[in-house]
Amino acid sequence: MNDFDWQDYSSETQAIRAGHRRTSEGEHSMPIFATSSYVFDSAEQASLRFTGKQEGNIYSRFTNPTVRAFQERLALLEQGESCLAFSSGMAAIMAVGMSLLKAGDHVVCSRSVFGNTIMAFQNYFGKFGVTTDFVNLTDLAAWEAAIRPTTRFLFLETPSNPLIELADISALAEIAHRHSCLLVVDNVFCTPILQKPLALGADLVVHSATKYIDGQGRCVGGAVIGRQQLIEKEIYPYLRTGGATMSAFNAWIFLSGLETLAIRMQAHCENAFALAKWLEQQPAVSKVHYPGLETHPQHELAKRQQHHFGGVVSFELVGGQEKAWQLIDATRMLSITANLGDVKTTITHPATTTHGRLSPELRAEVGIKDSLVRISVGLENIEDIKQDLMRGLVD
Ligand SMILES: *Cc1c(COP(=O)(O)O)cnc(C)c1O
Repeated sequence: MNDFDWQDYSSETQAIRAGHRRTSEGEHSMPIFATSSYVFDSAEQASLRFTGKQEGNIYSRFTNPTVRAFQERLALLEQGESCLAFSSGMAAIMAVGMSLLKAGDHVVCSRSVFGNTIMAFQNYFGKFGVTTDFVNLTDLAAWEAAIRPTTRFLFLETPSNPLIELADISALAEIAHRHSCLLVVDNVFCTPILQKPLALGADLVVHSATKYIDGQGRCVGGAVIGRQQLIEKEIYPYLRTGGATMSAFNAWIFLSGLETLAIRMQAHCENAFALAKWLEQQPAVSKVHYPGLETHPQHELAKRQQHHFGGVVSFELVGGQEKAWQLIDATRMLSITANLGDVKTTITHPATTTHGRLSPELRAEVGIKDSLVRISVGLENIEDIKQDLMRGLVD
């Protein structure tokens, strides 16, 4: 158990067993190490630990056995050398920026990323002299044209929210590396079960563990995964100083979330695919955005790049915002919340919630219509989900 080389095992097995170094108590389940600090055998040992001459725990802001188990497990799943856990997905994204950027640097970021990611680059890194250009996720030429000599990294999410558009990770990795930049991929929508960006050439993967990794909507957390050099030399010193640490309790929840991730993702994808096909047949629905459908412009890329098509579906209704709100309000079981990746199906109206802060012009440019509804398809019986939506689809 303690000395297995988990690298040789499949994702399903790694997600259940890797990372736990069983203690002399012989516990079967990973313990929660609820301790803020650690005790040394001697003054000399304390000194060796503090100077980094001896490996070992000092303080839980930067190392904790439960958190480390989560980090090791997620690193294996993402096929990365190292992983660091953070208190939230946004803390993980901030850590990438804080550790890699300096005044005068430049970032190229997809226009279709999580709203707070845009805020982070525009408002906060912008305040300290870092400039960011936002480009169309699917336009490779636009990415390349935006790169400057000062560009440090390209940042994207694929598939995107809420329109489920894909970026070609290998092609963007090639562009980034040709210009001596790094490629950072937010892999929240796919999780390593559906897509492994590092294996496709990305340099760093960021996660919000809050979504599918927890899977049951309980905790907020995040992670960054990549080469040892980047993680341990560049990002770890920032975690130690910045202090946005994942708690041992949350790591313990996320470890058990990972144990069921493969089977949950399979079920999320099957339900989402079935729902997308059903929605396509509804007269009240004018367009369905789901990469599993042959009508999706990047269906071929999705088949090549992902193991399945994901758990999130969005669709446009005949009519405008009023129709979208009517549909949402007519549901009884679905949860009206912007969160995603939960076993419970959630429904949201992007134009007035997650993307409500964008100007109507920018929303139009990005393609987020007022009639657009996004569903993170949960694991309830698909017939019950359809029935709940049917109430609002027929007036
Ligand atoms: C939720 C989310 C984040 C931010 O994660 P938090 O854990 O909420 O801080 C980042 N990226 C994507 C794609 C997300 O869905």
